[in-house]
This record gives sequence, C-alpha cells and structure tokens, in this order.
Amino acid sequence: MSRTSPSPRVGRRPDATEVVARVIRPEIRALSAYAVARAQRMVKLDAMENPYGLPARVRARLDAALGAVAVNRYPDGPGDAPRAALRRALAVPEELEILLGNGSDELIQIVATALARPGAAVLAPEPSFVMYARSALLAGMRFVGVPLARDFGLDRSAMLAAIERERPAVVLIAYPNNPTGNLFARDDVDAVLDAAPGLVVVDEAYYAFSDQTFLPDVARRPNLLLLRTVSKIGMAGMRLGYAIAAPEWIAELDKVRPPYNVNAFTQAAAVELLTDTDWIADQARAIRSERSRLETALGRLSGVAVFPSQANFVLARVPDADAAFARLTDRGILVKNLHGSNPLLANCLRITVGTPQENDALLGAFAEAGR
Ligand code: PMP
Repeated sequence: MSRTSPSPRVGRRPDATEVVARVIRPEIRALSAYAVARAQRMVKLDAMENPYGLPARVRARLDAALGAVAVNRYPDGPGDAPRAALRRALAVPEELEILLGNGSDELIQIVATALARPGAAVLAPEPSFVMYARSALLAGMRFVGVPLARDFGLDRSAMLAAIERERPAVVLIAYPNNPTGNLFARDDVDAVLDAAPGLVVVDEAYYAFSDQTFLPDVARRPNLLLLRTVSKIGMAGMRLGYAIAAPEWIAELDKVRPPYNVNAFTQAAAVELLTDTDWIADQARAIRSERSRLETALGRLSGVAVFPSQANFVLARVPDADAAFARLTDRGILVKNLHGSNPLLANCLRITVGTPQENDALLGAFAEAGR
C-alpha cells in the first residue's frame, strides 16, 4: 500500500479547536483573559501602583542583596526569611502564622482551591475586587455577590440574609474596598464575622492608606484570615502577598500552595526592603496628601462627584465616563473606566493617586477636555 493513500481505519485527527472545546471547561472558555491595559508612554493611573521609585539608599541595598541570590537553587519553599521580616515589621503575634503568596491574587486562589467542595459558595459584596468572583469560578465554586448600599457601605441586612441563606465557605471583604475606595463600617464587618459559618477573609491590600486594621482581631477570631500585599506600597513588581491567620488555617492552605511559589529574588528583596520601613511610610504619607488634593480639585469641577477614599485611588462620577476616558487617553493619561462593570458604578472612573506632577497632568487634562 502506498504511503500516501488514506487509511480507511484512521480517522481525521481533531484540530486544537475541537479538542479544546471538548476538554476545557465551558465557563473558562466563556471568560476573557484578565485584561491589563497597555500603558507605554502613558501617565499610568489605572492600577493602584505606588508612583514613586525606591529611594537611592534602599535601591543600593536591594541591588547588593539581589546580586547575592543563589539563582541555581530553588528558593526556600515556605520563605522563612521574608516571613520573619514581615513578622517583625508588623509585630505579628507568635500564636499566628503567615503564608506567602505570589501576590495576594495567588492567596485568594489558594483559599478558593482549598475550600472548593462541591456546591460550596464564595460570598462577597459587589462591586469589589474582581478576582474574588473569578477565583471562585476557577475553583469551581458558586459565587454569591451581595450589592453594596448606594453609598458603597455594606448592606448589613442583605449580607446577613445572604450568609444565612447560602452558608458560604468563605466571605471576602476588601477593607478598604476596591474599586470604591471606602472603608466599610467596622461593626458591619464584625456582624459578618459573627454570622459567617466558614472563613472570612479581610483583604487589607490598601491598609497603608487607611491605617484601619483587623490584625488585632485575628488572634481572637478563629474564622478570620487577614490578607495583605506589598503591591500598593511600592513593590508591585515583586509579587508578594501574605496571609495571617491561626496556624490551623495556614497549615491547610500551605498544602495547596505551589512548592516554590515565591521566587528567590522576591524573597531576598522582601528581607531587604522590609528591614527599614520608613521609606514606605513616607511614600504612603505623600500619597495620602496627594489623594486629598486630588479629591478636592476633582470635586470642584462641575458635574464631577468624588467619593471619599481611604485607599491610594479616587473614585469619581463624571457626566460621561466613556467620553472622559477617551479624552484622557488621547492626552496620554490612563485611568480605569468602570462604566458598565456594575450598575452602582455608572459613569465612574477610578483614578490612582500619582506623583504631584502626574496628578497635575490629570487635572489639567480634565480641565482642558471638559468633563
Ligand atoms: N486585593 C485587592 C482588594 C486588590 O485591589 C488587589 C489588586 N488590585 C489585590 C488584592 C491583589 O494584589 P496583588 O496580587 O498585587 O498582591
């Protein structure tokens, strides 16, 4: 038989599209990859990064530490040295444990993966950080979103009713909240902690700009896990988040953590950057002061409403967010357009606080372009 003649017994090999359609979960096929805006040569005010670089003396120490990393070796799995540095920097009590993640994004995924029994639910107020719903979906959990009140506070009775009805394995509360920027009332969060039958994650990604924390509560609340990140305080490129909770929680989550999730460069950098935290506090102070300047200046523009923020960004409602976003982009300024993402965020832009010069550029562009 000639090599080129088709064999009647060998079927056509399915192409990639067909195999993908057969084996990839439909809910994943229906998603788009997490969108990150292109920002080359733009004033980048879209992603809650700290706009300041490292001070020169800190940069020099960091360069030396990175030069000494044994790149031929795997990193320390649990990251003992950065965990000790964090414990010292934050005064984490001895009876609590710390788990490191490749960003707090990874820790949210680890929590969802560990808790994803069939039918288990993730509950969070909405709008909140988009990765909560996404991590639930990826882990195969149900996501229950409870709308915030019109002032972006927690709707306490709706939250408690949903907790009673859904018995969620985990409730996620961003404190302050992204994208609204406000801190929920403490007693509303306490009511959620009292009512929740499972874990409650209080995500303090923006802690440096609010100074409000549930850290002292972790030791007496067995269902509370605190999440923090270094991303908003000048180290977003490092990808380092951490969870603080009772050792019983951390021991289980540690089984889900990929073995070498925090790389050796990040570990060395964290130890170096967290030994002296004055520069972090100085930058956070500058960001807060620019935040109030931005809030006041934006609030003076006619037709613009600014929501009070305890984070490193400002949420503003403008007459036409799509048009304002396009005009700002044309002028080289990138912000986040939230219009269309949730009815409560109609015509809202989320503007990360930049350097004084960047904020001036934003205000100038607003004034020039009209709202
Ligand atoms: N939590 C909240 C509330 C956030 O807004 C973000 C970042 N957008 C994260 C967690 C994730 O931070 P990272 O993965 O950079 O630590």
